[in-house]
Amino acid sequence: MAKRKPMQLELVLDNVPAQTSSRHQFRLDEHWIEYTLKRSLRRRSITFVIDEDGLRVGAPWHASLRRIESLLGRHARWITRKLGEWRARRPPPFTWQEGAAVMALGEPLTLALDPARSSTARDGNLLCIAANEAIEPGVLAAQVTAWLRSTAQGWFEQRAAHYAPELGVPLPAIYLSNARSRWGSCHPDGRVRLSWRLIQMPPELIDYVVVHELAHLREANHSQYFWRWVARVLPDYEIRRRALRRDSHRYLFA
Ligand SMILES: [Zn+2]
Repeated sequence: MAKRKPMQLELVLDNVPAQTSSRHQFRLDEHWIEYTLKRSLRRRSITFVIDEDGLRVGAPWHASLRRIESLLGRHARWITRKLGEWRARRPPPFTWQEGAAVMALGEPLTLALDPARSSTARDGNLLCIAANEAIEPGVLAAQVTAWLRSTAQGWFEQRAAHYAPELGVPLPAIYLSNARSRWGSCHPDGRVRLSWRLIQMPPELIDYVVVHELAHLREANHSQYFWRWVARVLPDYEIRRRALRRDSHRYLFA
């Protein structure tokens, strides 16, 4: 293939996505194995990664599926063993019962039933529920969620009160949302909406979302001026932003 001039290469990169991702299946001994294939213009060799998300294959843009799967076949024993190890390590699916753990402010709280109580309350690393063993999983879920929501409301209001003066914005009214994919939003009239699910995260990530939404009261966009306001209050905001993107899937339990 003729060597491309740098200018032409840039045009190619403009028109084609730098990476594509697709799901495939192939037969390994008796089993069908699913994998994610990521093709990239930059990649020069075929690579395998096995982790909690299963098997991911990285390949150069033009590598044929036949070549990829013949390589998978050659590493069949390694792949089967690694997939088995991860499957064994995977935690059992979450069930609403005594002893299960929910996250609050980045810490696991173990659910404990305590019929002597009149309301749900945290006690160290326990979340004590005013109920006995006869409680239905759905009722338990509702009680824990109600506690998380009320904790979220108080925490978010307090953090907003802390940061609003630093940004020089009036203290907004905080509303809770039930969103799984959008942690916060800000209305131009000064209402800030935050997902109650955020309360499961460590305080530094909650603070990032609070500051992000408050900074929108300064700049209703994501311009450099907006990010300058965020950075003024949280100089390390980029680290928090990356951590939020990386970890947020862990906090979508219910
Ligand atoms: Zn934003």
